[in-house]
Amino acid sequence: MEPVVEYEKLLPSQFEKRISECSLVYVPVGSLEWHGEHLALGNDAIKMHGLCCEAARKGGGIVFPPVFYGIPYMVDYGKAYEHAANLPVTEDFLRSVLSTVLSALERIGFRAAILITGHTCKQQIELMRAVAEEHQGTMKVFGTNDAELGDSIDHTSDHAAKWETSILWHLMPELVDIYQQPRDTSVPLEGVGGEDPRIHASRDLGRKAVEAIAGDLAIKGQELLAQSEHAEQ
Ligand SMILES: [Zn+2]
Repeated sequence: MEPVVEYEKLLPSQFEKRISECSLVYVPVGSLEWHGEHLALGNDAIKMHGLCCEAARKGGGIVFPPVFYGIPYMVDYGKAYEHAANLPVTEDFLRSVLSTVLSALERIGFRAAILITGHTCKQQIELMRAVAEEHQGTMKVFGTNDAELGDSIDHTSDHAAKWETSILWHLMPELVDIYQQPRDTSVPLEGVGGEDPRIHASRDLGRKAVEAIAGDLAIKGQELLAQSEHAEQ
């Protein structure tokens, strides 16, 4: 059976064992945002949480529950809908939530944290870096985004296109329905940025992407822990 790595699912004895063996925590962040007709609205946080869980299974550590708050740089919602479900929050609000969470995680005893957003607008990426830099304590914090990982398979950031569709398809196939999109690939897709998922996305590519990105994340986690141990000496 695969080990439980999600904070909220651990029994106290399991939490104690995992943090004692590896005092690393992943904090996955995303958004509630239009991701085309074919992907769930929470894709960014769900994807990031899944990637972090795979990293923790590979290299140790615990994964904080996904943070679904994204700042107001989002793709326009589908025009045909009466209720636009994009849910942006202010930068100040998200900064405060993340700083509070990091301080609490430090008090629990984590020595390293990876703060990573799957919502990859420039402003949210910068916010991850800023919050990480501002956190001055015994816990080392690294702020990043998934587009910086998975170089070995040429992974880049997109929006509900080849990569995001493939990754969610592998992690949570029930949250992807590519047949919601027109089958005729000459019909353009609304609010999708990157290579056409109808042609280029697959569960197999998603599996490879998850393997590569989670592998890179686990390595980053080990580096961060090593830095934190070094700083203590
Ligand atoms: Zn996204």
